[in-house]
Amino acid sequence: MMRFFPVPSAVKLFYPVNTCWEMGQQHKKIYLTFDDGPCEESTGPILELLDRFRIRATFFCTGMQALKHSELFNKIIDCGHTIGNHTFSHKSAWKCTPKGYLEDFERFENEVRKTRLFRPPYGHFPLGGTKRIRMSHAVIMWSLMAWDFDPAIRPEKIVEIFSKKTSNGSIWVFHDQEKAWRSGQVALPKLIEKFLERGYEFECIPEKL
Ligand SMILES: [Zn+2]
Repeated sequence: MMRFFPVPSAVKLFYPVNTCWEMGQQHKKIYLTFDDGPCEESTGPILELLDRFRIRATFFCTGMQALKHSELFNKIIDCGHTIGNHTFSHKSAWKCTPKGYLEDFERFENEVRKTRLFRPPYGHFPLGGTKRIRMSHAVIMWSLMAWDFDPAIRPEKIVEIFSKKTSNGSIWVFHDQEKAWRSGQVALPKLIEKFLERGYEFECIPEKL
């Protein structure tokens, strides 16, 4: 399987034009994001890490996990981080009808929290029925994927690639999951330290793009 850390330009052509792959390039800013949480094993340590460096991040949570770990979910918000909708049950748009997909998206908004940011699970975007989502939400993809959930990718590799490929406005994806955090907890402190030294700031994705 091919693992693309930066998303190839050809792939981006298949997405609607207003999909967000990176933020403005004029400032030395990085947008760290965590998908799939909250999670009993990883959310706490992630929040501690962010707090240690005094930086903020964006958490694309699923509704399922948010309701299951509501204390952790509220803690993410109390710590000043931003929440994005990652559907209620982590649905792939390629495996359900546009109607079913939209219902899962809306279930998050209705049962968990109103948000302004959306990230489609697996990066799969429905070919039909996206208008409703785009009316209220910015669709946030990523510039660099850590593949932290894949045990075949060593944390050193993540550090190496991210160190080379990050530029102003890059959006990083890591995962708020027990398995992924095994590599995230090694790679992330190194990367954050390195980029702070290089003069970058880490920020939440603004809810009004
Ligand atoms: Zn996900």
